[in-house]
Amino acid sequence: MSGQPRHCRGCGCELSTIQSIRGLCDNPECRRKDVDFQQRQRRQTALRIIRAGLPASWQAKNAGVAVLPRNTERLAPLSGARIEALRQHLEQIVIEAGELPDREFEIKETSTTTNGIDAKQADLPVLGAACGLCGGHCCATGGDSAWLEPGTIRRLQWRLLPLADTRIIEHYLSFVPETGYENSCIYHAENGCCLPRSIRSNVCNQYLCKGLAEVVQGLKDGEGRCVAATVIGVSPITVALFDTLGILDTIKPASEE
Ligand code: SF4
Ligand code: SF4
Ligand SMILES: [Zn+2]
Repeated sequence: MSGQPRHCRGCGCELSTIQSIRGLCDNPECRRKDVDFQQRQRRQTALRIIRAGLPASWQAKNAGVAVLPRNTERLAPLSGARIEALRQHLEQIVIEAGELPDREFEIKETSTTTNGIDAKQADLPVLGAACGLCGGHCCATGGDSAWLEPGTIRRLQWRLLPLADTRIIEHYLSFVPETGYENSCIYHAENGCCLPRSIRSNVCNQYLCKGLAEVVQGLKDGEGRCVAATVIGVSPITVALFDTLGILDTIKPASEE
C-alpha cells in the first residue's frame, strides 16, 4: 500500500485498498471530475515528451509549446448514401432559407468559439499551417451536412443575383470529393476541405480550436516563434517550429503507421 494515495483526489475521503490503486472513491461525481485531471496529466506527459525531443538547433528550450490534435481517420470512397443525405439536407435548408425574413440571415447563422483568437490574428498564415499539420480533426463534426444551414444559403443568395434552388443544390453537390475521410465531414478529403471558403458555413469559417489559441499565445510569448505538435494520446506525431508565416522546420518523433 506504500506509495498509493490513501485519500480520494476528488473529495479527500479515505480509500479502501482497491480504490487507492486508482486514487479515487466510487462517488460518480469524483469520477466525472477526474476526466479533467486525467486530461491534464496526459497533456503534461505529452509536453514533457515533446520538450525532451526538441532539436538543439531550434533553440526552443524555453519556447511555448502548443498541443494540436491529429486526424486519424482513413480515406475511403464516399458512399451514395452519404451524398443522398447531403442532398436531402440541402433541399431542406434551401426551402428554409426561402422562408427567412430578409436581412435577418446574418444572425441566423450559428456562431462558434475562436478560443480568444481575435479577427486580426485569425487570418495569420501560421494558423492554416497548423490546421494542415492536424489534418482537420475538428471536421469530424461536419458529418453529411457540413454545418450548412438556411442562413448560409441566405448569405449566398444575398451576395449574388437570384439563383434557382436547384442550381444552389447542384453547386454544393459538385464539390463533394470522390474519396474522403471516414467518420468525418463529407467535404473532408486528403488535401483538406473541398468546399470554397466563401460558401462554407459560418461555423467552419469561424471555428479556431484551443491548440491554435496556444499557437498564437506561443508566438506572442516567444517573440515570433513557437513549437506546435500534433499529438495522439501522449505521443507526439509531428513537431514543428513555427513563426507567424508558417512552418520553419518539422520532426516526426513517432511514425503514424
Ligand atoms: S482548428 Fe484545430 S482541430 Fe481544427 S483543423 Fe485546425 S488545428 Fe485541427
Ligand atoms: S465543410 Fe470543410 S471546413 Fe467545414 S467541416 Fe466540412 S471539411 Fe471541415
Ligand atoms: Zn471521492
